[in-house]
Amino acid sequence: MSSVSASPTRLKFWGTRGSISVPGHGTLRYGGNTTCVEVRADGEIIVLDAGSGIRSLGIALEKEFHSQPIKLSLLITHAHWDHIQGLPFFAPVYEKKNEIRVRGYDGVDTTFGEIMAEPMKAPFFPIAMRELSAKIDIKKLTEMEFSTGKVQVRARFVNHPGVCAGYRLLTSAGSIAFLPDHEPYRFLHSAKSNDMTPEQAKKTATEERTSLVEFLKGSDILILDAQYTDAEYETHVGWGHGSVSSAVSLALDAEVRRLLLFHHAPSHDDAMVDAMVDEARRLIRESGKDLEVDGAREGEELVLRN
Ligand SMILES: [Zn+2]
Ligand SMILES: [Zn+2]
Repeated sequence: MSSVSASPTRLKFWGTRGSISVPGHGTLRYGGNTTCVEVRADGEIIVLDAGSGIRSLGIALEKEFHSQPIKLSLLITHAHWDHIQGLPFFAPVYEKKNEIRVRGYDGVDTTFGEIMAEPMKAPFFPIAMRELSAKIDIKKLTEMEFSTGKVQVRARFVNHPGVCAGYRLLTSAGSIAFLPDHEPYRFLHSAKSNDMTPEQAKKTATEERTSLVEFLKGSDILILDAQYTDAEYETHVGWGHGSVSSAVSLALDAEVRRLLLFHHAPSHDDAMVDAMVDEARRLIRESGKDLEVDGAREGEELVLRN
């Protein structure tokens, strides 16, 4: 899928934190803003999630584009606050010249449109979604494969409370997988699992894990939920998030090139995330396999070239 003439794909982290923003001296290096990643590829601007980090992205885009229109696609993984709360503070939505496509899946009992309108509802916010000046096109996704311009996107539901998607962007310079919230299949977040025998649950878990490995296979970059240390995970089974070792093992099985530990816990300061990255590197050395790993840092840019 690579071609000589293709331009590089650029990715920038605007928010790497899970659950809630944690500004302060302890999170200066990995960042305090919640989930938001910008991808520039094949002439497209694709924004993954609208956590509090999207505010700074909005300011940067306004500065870059001045009076020119900003056209972008915003892909939402799920309805949890840390993934949508920044939208009312994303400056481009208040400018008539801009075109913003917003895409994501319906929740269990809510439509995608209702999910996106929620952060701007009275009495919690003074401006309603319908009052925004930009051309905002909010549509629910119904397919698991679609395209935004020249970028093909594959989606897959992951293991997290409610409906939560992971996305894989197939750009001409390589592919980026984004799974900000995902718990290992050892615990199944599925209404169906309540009626399963332990044997059935184990079989389903194995099948789901295999299918997820297939979905991620050979990704150049994998941005993956690694909220907990392994010890913390043992007391947070069922909370919807992964651990350092579960992230490393998934990335190794899927033979991805580079793993970025993501959705840092609000209780973890920079030193703690450093220690988790060290632990991930130790596990990779022990496996004897090849995998680059780092903690995702707010403000950091990654470039894929073919
Ligand atoms: Zn989250
Ligand atoms: Zn979540």
